[in-house]
Amino acid sequence: MRIEYDIKLGFKDVMIRPKRSTLKSRSEVSLERSFKFLHSPHVYTGVPIIAANMDTVGTFEMARALSEQGLFTAIHKHYSLNDWSVFSSTLPDNAKDLIAVSTGISKDDSKKLASIIENNSYLKYICIDVANGYSEHFAHFVRDTRSKYPDCVIIAGNVVTGEMVEELLLSGADVVKVGIGPGSVCTTRVKTGVGYPQLSAIIECADAAHGIGGQIISDGGCATPGDVAKAFGGGADFVMLGGMLAGHTESGGEIIEKQGKPYRKFYGMSSSTAMNKHVGGVAEYRASEGKTVEIPFKGEVKNTLQEILGGLRSTCTYVGAQRLKDLTKCTTFIRVNEQENRVYTE
Ligand code: 5GP
Repeated sequence: MRIEYDIKLGFKDVMIRPKRSTLKSRSEVSLERSFKFLHSPHVYTGVPIIAANMDTVGTFEMARALSEQGLFTAIHKHYSLNDWSVFSSTLPDNAKDLIAVSTGISKDDSKKLASIIENNSYLKYICIDVANGYSEHFAHFVRDTRSKYPDCVIIAGNVVTGEMVEELLLSGADVVKVGIGPGSVCTTRVKTGVGYPQLSAIIECADAAHGIGGQIISDGGCATPGDVAKAFGGGADFVMLGGMLAGHTESGGEIIEKQGKPYRKFYGMSSSTAMNKHVGGVAEYRASEGKTVEIPFKGEVKNTLQEILGGLRSTCTYVGAQRLKDLTKCTTFIRVNEQENRVYTE
């Protein structure tokens, strides 16, 4: 047994220190970024925020709404081939560059991915997602997928340490998804004791990825626009959101009413709710590692987007970053023992 004594940080452990700035207004800040990739020849341009590939978040409706403002959606893996054809036939061209098709790593997943891509040849992004990206089998699957789809941008995860980010990039991933246990409906840390505070994971993994020309997505743990800013400040190229985008008109999940008020269900992809829905129950050898919650219905997602993008622009003006691209180099984190004043918070 070994102990690492360095304290690792989460979003709640830091704030961003304001700096002298020449920016006069938030409207001068550009949130758009362009990326070239390690393997794929494709070039990405957009606002690098991604709706998570959960069936309550990464929906076709979400993709339409997010793409209008240049944001990206990782479409969840549970749509049928027919659902895809209907969606694709009505998708505007500019939105086609802002979606990824998601897949697991089973034989069936791989077959389904092949038919979706064959029938929707505009698709350029593949998100290979497993709860634990540390298995050898996973890296093999990434390698295999790279050889089958040499031009696609491959997103692979999840991991939280630099050496595994490098291994996945060298196996053929262009972008590595980072986060184990920070998610709002995730119970991995409680059930297994495994995890890594998200901000430190971002800082360390971004450093490893950028060293060899790859990118990372910070996945999970953002509960406020301030957290999204901290994730970018820490070096994330993209930030993936689940809970912050759940509970909207465009989200998935059953709508229910409690005491006359509308709520929408939101659940982890390895919760018993998701497993009952998609694979006929929780397998005996595993515990569910996700929870199910009911969130007050939030209306159209565009209002939430405005809050997130407005917050991010404001962060940039506080530190003098004219472009989101400059935010990391303008960021100094201070370690803190307090966050917001909660006197008037319920
Ligand atoms: P959030 O933005 O809600 O904090 O986190 C979203 C992320 O949580 C997802 O993108 C995914 O990586 C992770 N996640 C989703 N469902 C589950 C689950 O059932 N268990 C665990 N451990 N993580 C989950």
